[in-house]
Amino acid sequence: MKAFFGFKDGSGDWFVIIDTDRCSGCGKCAEACPSNVLQVGEDEYDPFNEEPVASVREEERKKIRYSCAPCQPGYGETPTPCITACEPGAISHSEGWKLMYGRQ
Ligand code: SF4
Ligand code: SF4
Repeated sequence: MKAFFGFKDGSGDWFVIIDTDRCSGCGKCAEACPSNVLQVGEDEYDPFNEEPVASVREEERKKIRYSCAPCQPGYGETPTPCITACEPGAISHSEGWKLMYGRQ
């Protein structure tokens, strides 16, 4: 399933999205994240999934737009570190990022 972590406001929607079916729990995204936004642990949205999956730290969810800003220098084509690190392609960002920065 796709787990959404973040918030929506008048300026857009600001979510880091983890596809838990693709996530292997390898932790490479958390290692690559310069803002310590990501963690690997139990799947809080699926109690039947016993495998560890990535998520956004609870304390980061209401400020994700700002925590992730250093990775979004503007109109670049380089994917963010978390997306680059994730070999299974389990991470994406919501429309707000795409509209503001021209990329996922
Ligand atoms: S890098 Fe990708 S596969 Fe590995 S824990 Fe992060 S989201 Fe999951
Ligand atoms: S966009 Fe940057 S700060 Fe946000 S989760 Fe990914 S690597 Fe971390």
